[in-house]
Amino acid sequence: MDGSGLNKLNKAKEMDKIAFGDDKKKSIDFNNLEVAFRGKSTQELEQSRWLLRVLGKNWLVNLGATFTPFLLRLNFQWVENLILKTIFKQFVGGTNLLNSQATIEKLHSQNCFTVLDYGAEAKTTEKEYNTTTMEFTRAIEFGSTHEAVSIITVKISAIARFELLEKIQSDKKLSQEENLEKQNIVKRLQSICQKAEEKNIGVFFDAEESWIQKAIDEMVLEMMAVYNKKSCIVYNTYQLYRNDKLEQLKSDFETAKSKGYILGAKLVRGAYLEKEAKYAKEKDLPSVINPTKKATDHEFDAAVQFCLDNYEHIAICCGTHNLKSTQLMAEKIAELKIDKNHPHLLFCQLYGMGDYLSFNLSHNGYKVAKYLPYGTVKEVIPYLIRRARENTSIQGEVGREIQLVSTELKRRKSK
Ligand SMILES: Cc1cc2nc3c(=O)[nH]c(=O)nc-3n(C[C@H](O)[C@H](O)[C@H](O)COP(=O)(O)OP(=O)(O)OC[C@H]3O[C@@H](n4cnc5c(N)ncnc54)[C@H](O)[C@@H]3O)c2cc1C
Repeated sequence: MDGSGLNKLNKAKEMDKIAFGDDKKKSIDFNNLEVAFRGKSTQELEQSRWLLRVLGKNWLVNLGATFTPFLLRLNFQWVENLILKTIFKQFVGGTNLLNSQATIEKLHSQNCFTVLDYGAEAKTTEKEYNTTTMEFTRAIEFGSTHEAVSIITVKISAIARFELLEKIQSDKKLSQEENLEKQNIVKRLQSICQKAEEKNIGVFFDAEESWIQKAIDEMVLEMMAVYNKKSCIVYNTYQLYRNDKLEQLKSDFETAKSKGYILGAKLVRGAYLEKEAKYAKEKDLPSVINPTKKATDHEFDAAVQFCLDNYEHIAICCGTHNLKSTQLMAEKIAELKIDKNHPHLLFCQLYGMGDYLSFNLSHNGYKVAKYLPYGTVKEVIPYLIRRARENTSIQGEVGREIQLVSTELKRRKSK
């Protein structure tokens, strides 16, 4: 390598240090960008960087989030094509299971598993709820024939009426019709969990808004009591941005232990920060969210520690793009000398985000999966809007992505 090449390499190394801090002493070298990005061509990386920069523009994301659903309803094909070529390509596997297969295989070639995430949101009729339930069971069938797929994810509000969930949570008396509706929700959950047990595929139940979450928690825990006796099939999600979830995790663990089933716990920080603040303000209720990001970080890391201390009875999925929390979990696994392949351990990132975490973890023998959404553009648009909004907070962990891609592009040019 000539002198200028060396200079470039040293500069790239300096940038790595800025991006990560000097974490060479840690158990995994997350600085290894070659491993992190080897699945992407230089052109793909350049496209990703362009997109992430566009998403960094708050005004543009707000404009897009407001008008895109409207333009899609008017069936403008050019809007759909534009989305397919840009944000869809970055964050979504395909429009259906079959055309997501190439992405699933590519992830698996880097020792990364797939969590199938059918992008159904905001459904409103019983017919739609039943069709969505069938799609979930189809995903389980599909997963059972693919080594790379071990879990699917389910949003209960995609198979249940939101207002009914709200009413169940409020403890108001349900009408006869509503009781029947509730029974139908339980039947749908049972059919999904039963199929999952039969095919040995896990089911993550996503966490949603706090005003329906208690209703979700109760139903999911009932499923766990039935299906988690021998191995962990059903997982609930704990949003650690909430000030009551660490305590709930601990009490759910005690319940699971006393009733003799494994607690499935997917840990996340929480995606509905603004919505929760608005709701509490409008209803004049105390906020259920931690007062600061630091407090959320503390709760999340405490939850990781708690789960690992009890890993024989808790199957844990660490769902985050936060470097420190990921490092903490990896270090704690090493410290407790737990087998990295223990079926109760999983790291998880969203497709299109946190690749430097996912692929360095899998490279170092940890079990990692990517949440891979699939569905038509219209179906996945609410998900894409959430991702776009999340990526505008470039001061957070997600802003790191742009920096990393730039560093990798520099490294490749300096070779
Ligand atoms: C595999 C996976 C599955 C997921 N599933 C779900 C799910 O089921 N339900 C769900 O709600 N989300 C889910 N998420 C999204 C998740 O909750 C976060 O929104 C997202 O991952 C960003 O958090 P972080 O830990 O990755 O990174 P960070 O950038 O470290 O944290 C950002 C998060 O910190 C919290 N935060 C930020 N500012 C404050 C503040 N001022 N006060 C208190 N807290 C604050 C918020 O939760 C914010 O999203 C999932 C994420 C992943 C990776």
